[in-house]
Amino acid sequence: MEVKTSLLDNMIGVGDMVLLEPLSEESFINNLKKRFDHSEIYTYIGSVVVSINPYRSLPIYSPEKVEEYRNRNFYELSPHIFALSDEAYRSLRDQDKDQCILITGESGAGKTEASKLVMSYVAAVCGKGAEVNQVKEQLLQSNPVLEAFGNAKTVRNDNSSRFGKYMDIEFDFKGDPLGGVISNYLLEKSRVVKQPRGERNFHIFYQILSGATEDMLNKLKLQRDFSRYNYLSLDSSRVNGVDDAVNFRTVRVRESMAQLNPRHMTQNCKASILHFQEWELKEICELTGIDQSVLERAFSFRTLEAKQEKVSTTLNVAQAYYARDALAKNLYSRLFSWLVTRINESIKAQTKVRKKVMGVLDIYGFEIFEDNSFEQFIINYCNEKLQQIFIELTLKEEQEEYIREDIEWTHIEYFNNAIICDLIENNQTGILAMLDEECLRPGTVTDDTFLEKLNQVCATHQHFESRMSKCSRFLNDTSLPHSCFRIQHYAGKVMYQVEGFVDKNNDLLYRDLSQAMWKANHSLIKALFPEGNPAKINLKRPPTAGSQFKASVATLMKNLQTKNPNYIRCIKPNDKKAAHIFSDALVCHQVRYLGLLENVRVRRAGYAFRQPYELCLERYKMLCKQTWPHWRGPARAGVEVLFNELEIPVEEYSYGRSKIFIRNPRTLFKLEDLRKQR
Ligand code: ATP
Ligand code: MG
Repeated sequence: MEVKTSLLDNMIGVGDMVLLEPLSEESFINNLKKRFDHSEIYTYIGSVVVSINPYRSLPIYSPEKVEEYRNRNFYELSPHIFALSDEAYRSLRDQDKDQCILITGESGAGKTEASKLVMSYVAAVCGKGAEVNQVKEQLLQSNPVLEAFGNAKTVRNDNSSRFGKYMDIEFDFKGDPLGGVISNYLLEKSRVVKQPRGERNFHIFYQILSGATEDMLNKLKLQRDFSRYNYLSLDSSRVNGVDDAVNFRTVRVRESMAQLNPRHMTQNCKASILHFQEWELKEICELTGIDQSVLERAFSFRTLEAKQEKVSTTLNVAQAYYARDALAKNLYSRLFSWLVTRINESIKAQTKVRKKVMGVLDIYGFEIFEDNSFEQFIINYCNEKLQQIFIELTLKEEQEEYIREDIEWTHIEYFNNAIICDLIENNQTGILAMLDEECLRPGTVTDDTFLEKLNQVCATHQHFESRMSKCSRFLNDTSLPHSCFRIQHYAGKVMYQVEGFVDKNNDLLYRDLSQAMWKANHSLIKALFPEGNPAKINLKRPPTAGSQFKASVATLMKNLQTKNPNYIRCIKPNDKKAAHIFSDALVCHQVRYLGLLENVRVRRAGYAFRQPYELCLERYKMLCKQTWPHWRGPARAGVEVLFNELEIPVEEYSYGRSKIFIRNPRTLFKLEDLRKQR
């Protein structure tokens, strides 16, 4: 929040919400709308960038624009994602501060596009030379491959990321790129076997069927016809404006650039998945080198081992379907993780020198659907944690600046969502812990027994609501069915349907299946199912999905905490994927749950503005005889004379070591008005 003044000149609406007067939800949204109508999709809240998806290509990302924003102060030009990228990059290069770019917003709001814009800006301004260019290429090329495997068409977004992604880009001391590391979070693997109406499976399946040569399809025993495969939804196999065949060729080129050979192995896996649905065991076995009798047996029996004893039970039809789907989902998600590992090998920095790091986080935003299940619960938990870190870091930054500048610390009132994080993640009484406890408990475990347990332990928690518990405050709340619980998240209330929680958290694959896969005469598939190796039988069960996610979120938070954060808050303007439409109600909803107004309030709570004495004097010295045209002496003394002369109330500002701190935006407006009157 340094040199704000340029933001007041010739702007459409206000470029920085901190300057909005009066501040209300209505004025906030009107300002966004006014700017959006003038193709100004970026607006600041201090150093935070709010971005509204324009759903059309705007001429604001050209190489000329890159040059315009390069090496300029954050507030010098109109708000832009490039300004944030430049600030982050320069602060990394020149001040040796590791950075992270945190991009949040709901599905279709533009997170992935924003992350690509940041990456391409940084690639454009950092380093030169053949070697550096190759590193840049490799980093940028990882995107299309990951998108082919991890993105799908949904009703909200034709290219929706169905996994969370965090990428550390590493630089040397000069700021030249060295390489990168990608972490992936919770792929929505249920999509492999079933998609909601109007949605598709992952792009890659359609790409193979449309783009592979006849010869390749023959080898994979596939037919070009989508409708043959029930795992591919029938009603929406094409996406407007998307050519799967062309994309397939791109992905193949990129795969080889990212050194993802041998490709045929991944093709075998993908093809096998398509054959699963049709029970085409012969084809699967030919592709993977599994003995057909082994696979047949694995789909027909389940072996339970207890105290050296093995008991085989026959699977009924429903169980066999369940086993098949579980295997298809597991194979795909393991293949995806393997891909990320391979990409990481290819983009790994080839040096041991100390690295400067810029992390880019593109993770699923808060989800409130009609039916919310385990996936939404996990995603929303992740968003609570991100909000937590936002609060901690924003406030910490404010506090540190006050200390540095020797300004009296003013307490800022804000809602701390730590209490909700605790409801979910507490090791003893948290929802995840109880779900794990239930999953591991001997005896009959069902989603209902899990809910009962929640009711015993959480009933009195302020942010937990359910009707089953005797002491429940929600006994008469008919909007809350008995099979649900509700959490009051920082971003709003969400009702979760418990059905499927236990199963999804268990995430178990019958051992017969992993053993069959391990027997494949196919090195990749074998490697994907190491637990199928009979020599390594490990009776300890693998960690549950929930506890794995909790651990990876904890690692992510630790990582983010060591970095200087930069925020991009993405907003979706309408539900139609259409340009030029701004739905007030939809935007309002997002502004609320992203906590944007609260964000402005926090930024304004202490001192809304601060400005180095030199800059302040330079801009306003014309308002006072003693400082005009030249002030001889320290800048601070000049500002003191100026403010006394203008009779600005003393409670409106404070003198820091190097900056003047102004409490209220009105004071700044007054100064600006006086300036204009001259
Ligand atoms: P999800 O959570 O589903 O992955 P997302 O927030 O990542 O959603 P994107 O895939 O980035 O959303 O954006 C959705 C679509 O909106 C893009 O495919 C693109 O068509 C359009 N879009 C987003 N940002 C921009 C932009 N800055 N300029 C032009 N079009 C954009
Ligand atoms: Mg995305």
